[in-house]
Amino acid sequence: MYMDVIEQRSRQESELLAVINEWITRHPEPAQVGDQVKLAVIAVEITAATRLRSYPGGPRGEQLLRELHQRICSTVRPDDRHVVLSDTELLLVLFGIKSAGHARLAVRKLLNEITQYQNSELETVRITPRLGIAVWPDVAANGEELLRTASLAVDRARECGEAFFFYQPKNRDEKLFHWNIEAEIERALKEDELKLHFQPQISTASGCTTGAEALIHWHHPRYGYLSPSSFIPLVENSAVIDPLSRWCLHSALRQLASWMDNLHPPTLSVNISSRNFSDPSFLDMVSNALSVWGIPPNLLTLELTESALLEDIDYAITILQALQRMGIRVSIDDFGTGYSSLAYLKNLPVDELKIDQSFIRNLLTDRSDRNIVETIIKIANDFGFGVVAEGIEQEAIIPLLHELGCETGQGFAISRPLSAEAFGQWLAQHPCAKS
Ligand code: C2E
Ligand code: MG
Ligand code: MG
Repeated sequence: MYMDVIEQRSRQESELLAVINEWITRHPEPAQVGDQVKLAVIAVEITAATRLRSYPGGPRGEQLLRELHQRICSTVRPDDRHVVLSDTELLLVLFGIKSAGHARLAVRKLLNEITQYQNSELETVRITPRLGIAVWPDVAANGEELLRTASLAVDRARECGEAFFFYQPKNRDEKLFHWNIEAEIERALKEDELKLHFQPQISTASGCTTGAEALIHWHHPRYGYLSPSSFIPLVENSAVIDPLSRWCLHSALRQLASWMDNLHPPTLSVNISSRNFSDPSFLDMVSNALSVWGIPPNLLTLELTESALLEDIDYAITILQALQRMGIRVSIDDFGTGYSSLAYLKNLPVDELKIDQSFIRNLLTDRSDRNIVETIIKIANDFGFGVVAEGIEQEAIIPLLHELGCETGQGFAISRPLSAEAFGQWLAQHPCAKS
């Protein structure tokens, strides 16, 4: 019986999904933005359904529940769709709406209907509806994502104690606030869900590959691709960053070992969080990883942010000196966004400044960005640091950087971060320069 219910529910959901996806394929993005028709999913949860079932008078409760479902479904137009998944859950799909505002009107109508029903039919039971609304193409690319997002929005409505939650594009990046991210990362590590992607770095003079930055790539089974910038800041100060960074370092070096056959293997840059850096076992962890994978230390660059280095400058200098003695390179990531002061820079034994992408993006057109970049390059030259520009989105920026004296570049115009396999192919096509 239970299995029958589950099977029926998943069949209903798959059928609905097929209808939604079929509709989406018939409505590709139009040439004019304003012509875009949309599709909204409203996921409905009725929290008092169990109590309604046992409403005084036996079968009356069941009848009330059925009536309530009918009232909810009657709020959508005949050519829209509704599915009753269970006593407590329904899905409504509005096809071809002109704007997200129409979905809001539908929500208001639905809530009115439920209130009226409550007032006219129910005396002792208070129904609490929770609605989650998601609109295609605003917050989802396909039917699967749309249904998932609508159900996520119901969770959020419940958490906030609201009758409804309208999922906005900006919530896409916020969603991680709503679950136990640390436990999720631990699970992902255990289940081998995380991958590293590699973004090529090239010489601005010759175009040859010089290295790559290793970046976490997480395809979550429920939420799809999650950018590291949406979850790293949330866990950077928690204990889970330790196993996570150990995993990154080992995975990056294991991968590098497999590319060592290449005549001139790339250098790999690995991001290190401030908590890792201040961990007393940090140096042991790095030297252990290098020896496990047999990697020459000069092929590893650790990327640290200014704020990580400035937390305790004396301690930072001691660790940086130790890394230098070990032959490991250090780069200051997102340079220019912190509290760059020449006084502290002068004393830091680092090898490279990585100019933040916010200064590179509009380098061709923005005069003040160009001044900042020129200044950073000058500082790097004066102190004997290498300099890398990240966030190059236009090819024409590459020769300009070369002209300004920045020798290395990274960005979408060169390549997006690539899977290990794709980066292996990239290396075959763009071999590393002889040093
Ligand atoms: P980051 O170290 O500054 O990494 C560069 C980020 O910029 C990456 O985003 C990369 O995909 C993106 N990017 C590269 N080129 C371009 C471009 O031309 N345009 C634009 N708009 N973006 C570009 P991603 O992968 O989302 O990583 C974001 C941040 O997450 C990283 O910033 C880093 O701070 C952190 N992160 C990523 N992987 C790791 C890791 O393994 N460990 C730690 N501790 N942090 C990581
Ligand atoms: Mg970085
Ligand atoms: Mg950066």
